[in-house]
Amino acid sequence: MENTIVKIENLVKRYKELIALDHLSLDIKQGEIFGLLGPNGSGKSTTINCLLSLLTYDKGNIEIFGKKMTPDSYDIKGRIGIIMQDVAVFNELNVYDNIDYFCGLYISDKAKRKQYVQEAIEFVGLENFAKFYPKKLSGGLLRRLNIACGIAHKPELIILDEPTVAVDPQSRNKILEGIQQLNRNGATIIYTTHYMEEVEQICSRVAIIDKGKCIAVGTKEELTKMIGNTETITINMNDIPDDVISAVRELKHIIEAVFDGSKLTVKCSGGNHNLVKILNILSEKNIPFGRVFSELPTLNDVFLEITGKALRDEEV
Ligand code: ADP
Ligand code: MG
Repeated sequence: MENTIVKIENLVKRYKELIALDHLSLDIKQGEIFGLLGPNGSGKSTTINCLLSLLTYDKGNIEIFGKKMTPDSYDIKGRIGIIMQDVAVFNELNVYDNIDYFCGLYISDKAKRKQYVQEAIEFVGLENFAKFYPKKLSGGLLRRLNIACGIAHKPELIILDEPTVAVDPQSRNKILEGIQQLNRNGATIIYTTHYMEEVEQICSRVAIIDKGKCIAVGTKEELTKMIGNTETITINMNDIPDDVISAVRELKHIIEAVFDGSKLTVKCSGGNHNLVKILNILSEKNIPFGRVFSELPTLNDVFLEITGKALRDEEV
């Protein structure tokens, strides 16, 4: 049996009239990189803050490592690493001392702590910045420091709330690779983001949340299977006779085929080799065509299908 590390049941959180979390339930297993994907304002940070007992909630139950999580569950907290959405470091402490401070909350043995801090610095690649104060760091380096502070004590469960917002691509890749490395080293990861690509890149399972509700949960494959069309094929071409497009439509697994004057777009539901079958028809009828694309559905399509709006609407 897979081990459940985090169990959230029917969580309800209100901010006055606003229902920020609406009977949200989640089950996170040991060894996962679990993605919490949702647009801005969907309730990701509220979920994390309730999970950590940093916020009180109106209803529901939260268990971590099989025990009820409460504000004074210090034993549980010591086994968790938290990387908050808003960078939380001390401006008056340099990089080394910041990490040492956070690590020291859980690791009292000095020699061990020194080793852990050094390992955390190396892990996020801040070796050349150990004596720097946070104000002198770029946005990406500051994010890496924030991460080092959260992971130095070698927690079993690491929670990262949008750790890549507003960082340069190099730091972003370093952060994503680092998360995968932490996971390979044995940590269970909860990762919140509104970037679908990141979830697709690193997460083993994902919960899609919207307006405080979990609207779908599963692997990327499971989620994209839920929605009707599984493949969109686009073929650039100048013209296509009606009988040929009809022949394409008559193929099995074709939902629709539309020609817009420069390209044929075909939506397919399931089935293998749809593209080959379409290209066979075109060759048989001697229809010239240009570039061919085949796209599998993304988590964006899943979100669109369930909510009727795009995940990215809110992006600036
Ligand atoms: P996300 O992290 O997914 O962007 P949040 O959890 O921050 O979403 O917010 C969920 C909803 O709760 C949003 O509508 C937000 O405006 C609201 N909210 C968050 N924090 C507060 C607060 N302290 N007081 C009132 N409303 C809040
Ligand atoms: Mg947030």
